[in-house]
Amino acid sequence: MDKNTKDSIFVSRGFLWGPSPEIYRGVSGFYDFGPMGKLVKNNLENETRKVFMKYGFFEVECPILMPEIVWKASGHLERFTDTMVKCKKCKSSFKIEDAEKKCSSCGGELTKPEEYNLMVKTKVGTDKDMFLRPETATTTYLLFPRLFQFFRKTMPIKVFQIGKAYRNEISPRQGVIRLREFTQMESQIFINTDNEMDFPEFNRIKKEKVLLLPHKLKKPVKISLEGAIKKKYLKKPAFAWCIHITEEILKKTGVKGYRFRQHAPNEMAHYADDAWDVEVKINGDWVEICGVHDRTDYDLKRHSQFSKQKMNVNKEIPHVLEISFGLERTLYALLNDSLVMDGERNLMKLPENMAPFQIGIFPLLKDKKLESLANKVNEDLSRNFRTYHDISGSIGRRYRRQDEVGTPFCITIDHQSLEDKTVTIRERDSMKQERVKISELKVNLNEKFF
Ligand code: AMP
Repeated sequence: MDKNTKDSIFVSRGFLWGPSPEIYRGVSGFYDFGPMGKLVKNNLENETRKVFMKYGFFEVECPILMPEIVWKASGHLERFTDTMVKCKKCKSSFKIEDAEKKCSSCGGELTKPEEYNLMVKTKVGTDKDMFLRPETATTTYLLFPRLFQFFRKTMPIKVFQIGKAYRNEISPRQGVIRLREFTQMESQIFINTDNEMDFPEFNRIKKEKVLLLPHKLKKPVKISLEGAIKKKYLKKPAFAWCIHITEEILKKTGVKGYRFRQHAPNEMAHYADDAWDVEVKINGDWVEICGVHDRTDYDLKRHSQFSKQKMNVNKEIPHVLEISFGLERTLYALLNDSLVMDGERNLMKLPENMAPFQIGIFPLLKDKKLESLANKVNEDLSRNFRTYHDISGSIGRRYRRQDEVGTPFCITIDHQSLEDKTVTIRERDSMKQERVKISELKVNLNEKFF
């Protein structure tokens, strides 16, 4: 791989490795998170978790494998398909959207388009067919009767789940943009129809502005949520509230340059009442990183029919409003946008809450006394911050390594530190250094971060 591309930095600095398993040449659509990638992933999950919980959502976790009847009920076995073409000569497969007139691998002739189901099937025990979930959402819907009891029969019910999903994509590509195994962070509100229109929490956030691209407009408009309802770009206050929560997650995670694009009526699932994608530009193309969907009563109605369980609340089957983030795409958009390569140095301008570490701690030289003091500083600060203690290589190289993974501040312990109990703090973006008393480090760093 070219050493000077962003992707090569993501590999060399331990963010994303693959396709996995690399030592056996890998299978496309599967990736590993290296140590730095895993830390950013944890941060992304935790910031999202915090926002959902702030708005009263509770987290659940369900099995990844579900029996056939679940996917019959959900409609996935019947309709979760892509159209593909195959090369008659080399047998490569292509999603119809990606296909050219001839095979792009060998120039061979292509077959007629055919439908292809994206569900991954496996066997459990000796003979039971099970399917890997293609989304976390369905597994959450199945909990509705339990949740309704747990929440003492009060509506609406707000839940979310973070976990893996599997889709047998025909032609995985662009690294982690189209994967066969990926992570979703999905929330649902189970809600009655009256409540969708009369939703008191909306009043608190209705003046907030968002960038919307309604399907009837050619250009996005920055408009308040209240204004969007008045103009009929958005139909329901409860749905507008979901748009607001989505935007808050985007802001917290530091993803920039996004827009909300509404699906045209012919783009939506047949049962959906409204659907918006959050899109960001990645290498020049708009890529969907999240969907906000008004799924009506479709899901609970189908699962009620197939399971023969009652799901009515006040004579009505509850409706589902859903936020569905793809974690890998969001993480990739963030890394790709944050990495600045200006020829002088590679700088990962991650926000403090997303960076693998908040603080790097280095003894200036290989020296027992400096190392012992650095150890002490690290022990102390690691109670409150995500720190990384690095003693190997020249100080310049250690700064550069932290610049490339996005550590906002580095602390260096030198000989002066032994005499007057001060250290230097170097700021990542400006490279400015200041001398601070060790006893004042915590207060100083707290002010910088919070
Ligand atoms: P969907 O259920 O198709 O609306 O997808 C919800 C989110 O999951 C999307 O916005 C993407 O961020 C993510 N996603 C869907 N399919 C894939 C895939 N094949 N690879 C990576 N992320 C995906």
